[in-house]
Amino acid sequence: MKLEISSLSFSYGSKEILRNVSFSLESGRSTALLGRNGSGKTTLLRIILGFLKPACGSVSVDGKEVSEMNHRERAKFIAYIPQTLTDIYPYTALETVLMGRASSLSLFQHPGKKDEEKALEALEILGIAHLKNRAVNTLSGGERQLVLIARAIVQDASFMIMDEPTASLDYSNSLLVMEKIEELRQDGYGILYSTHSPDTALQNGSGILLLSDGVSEYIDNPEELEDGRKLSELYNRQLCIKSIETEKGRKLVCVPV
Ligand code: ADP
Repeated sequence: MKLEISSLSFSYGSKEILRNVSFSLESGRSTALLGRNGSGKTTLLRIILGFLKPACGSVSVDGKEVSEMNHRERAKFIAYIPQTLTDIYPYTALETVLMGRASSLSLFQHPGKKDEEKALEALEILGIAHLKNRAVNTLSGGERQLVLIARAIVQDASFMIMDEPTASLDYSNSLLVMEKIEELRQDGYGILYSTHSPDTALQNGSGILLLSDGVSEYIDNPEELEDGRKLSELYNRQLCIKSIETEKGRKLVCVPV
């Protein structure tokens, strides 16, 4: 499957935020979205999710316009994972994951045994089945993020859109969440996530979308950024990219000069 973003432009009033943004994301690939604060990352994600309407351009899945789909139809293709859980109610992890089944049920239908099995399976995939009966507001940031990802898994959508999945996580939880995201990519999901960490993008993205002053540039392979020039321009400070050999192969890291 292919999520295609074509020539998107968007303004808030007279302020242009996105100009002619195009890229595509295929199943089994991940794209990291990098840009400074205010560069339009959240706006772009909100357009892809159908929350905002672009002035021109389109978002489609396998040629079908997302803007012409109703909420339920869209949920079959695209799942959204917010930065944090904002629910104040002490739902359990299992109940929270079950909410991801809502778009597959009719209006007054309650989740059944099959839905519960699916939710448990998603918790198991992410290694947090032991937390199923814990209230989500008692979980750590990393555990909560995994619950949100499990909720997206049970939605059965092909693409996952993640708004800074590692924001506010400590280093080890960031690594854990990114490892789980990589496993989901290998399972065939198409994943687009925004991040403020160039290292996360360099080490985990199949591709990287750079967003600056409303203009985007898609980098197919992180190694294209190795001379440091593009990231230095993006963040407006001198950066260099170093290649490090590890037990698990070559890794790129971004270092300020
Ligand atoms: P990012 O996620 O990269 O930080 P955003 O997409 O949130 O960027 O914002 C892009 C720009 O649009 C910023 O200058 C922001 O102030 C502005 N902006 C965001 N939301 C609104 C809004 N609802 N009305 C007007 N301007 C907005």
